[in-house]
Amino acid sequence: MTTTTGDNTAAAGHAHTGELAGTAALVTGATSGIGRTTALALAALGARVVVSGRDATRGKQVVADIEEAGGTAYFVRADLRDEESARTLARTATALAGQVDILVNNAGLFPFGPTEGTTEESFDDVYATNVKVPYFLVAQLAPAMAERGTGAIVNVTTMVAEFGAAGMGLYGSSKAALRLLTKAWAAEYGPRGVRVNAVSPGPTRTEGTAAMGDALDALAKGGPAGRPAGPEEIAEAIVFLASPRASFVHGALVPVDGGRIAV
Ligand code: NAP
Repeated sequence: MTTTTGDNTAAAGHAHTGELAGTAALVTGATSGIGRTTALALAALGARVVVSGRDATRGKQVVADIEEAGGTAYFVRADLRDEESARTLARTATALAGQVDILVNNAGLFPFGPTEGTTEESFDDVYATNVKVPYFLVAQLAPAMAERGTGAIVNVTTMVAEFGAAGMGLYGSSKAALRLLTKAWAAEYGPRGVRVNAVSPGPTRTEGTAAMGDALDALAKGGPAGRPAGPEEIAEAIVFLASPRASFVHGALVPVDGGRIAV
């Protein structure tokens, strides 16, 4: 694991006045797509953001973009696949940012394909990244939030954790586990001031879905919006749930899917 630390005008003494000023956030999968957009948005509101992912070049670019906009960010490279990698990232993020007040469990794998074509390795990878890692990040970070009596955790799930979609059973079931964990953690940590919620996106244009081409539009066609989202439309909901504006929101699974699961 490597880290880079950025300095900038905010860190240099011009205190940020945004609504998240004084807080620190860890966003997994922040080198790309929804996570990157969320990291930028949290930083714009004054949070110090730990940007994490596997690709150091893109990670450092996200930090540079945040700093250029006047924010504070750090990059921590982490290949998230097991308890150890999750706990190490959580400890490193805490050391860099002082504490972690906001955790966004965004990093995820979403391979699609027939059940009979799925290897055991792929099955294990999906469940490790999408379920095991968020589980142990929460295990490492939520107790300190609870100790301070404040914190917010936002899990990124998917609309296909809500209904049966051919070829998406592995992915959808892993996110269905994260949906239930969202409610379980709300019950476990909510009474001690930690709000745990989830955003359930529909098809969204990101680096990760670029290769899907027309299939992404086809998937989006079934909903009232009739189109895929931009990552900023998902980030809006994540930031809301992470912010004090959502102070009475616990254990919510917020669909941001163009209405797809409503109809
Ligand atoms: P993306 O563009 O493919 O980005 C995925 C991010 O996760 C990257 O930053 C990647 O890091 C990181 N990541 C993946 N595996 C990792 C691992 N083992 N260790 C550390 N980092 C890892 O994805 P996206 O489309 O923005 O999706 C983000 C989240 O939204 C995912 O949880 C996905 O399931 C969910 N979602 C997406 C859509 C959609 O249509 N896009 C819809 C519903 C839900 P590196 O690139 O640095 O390796």
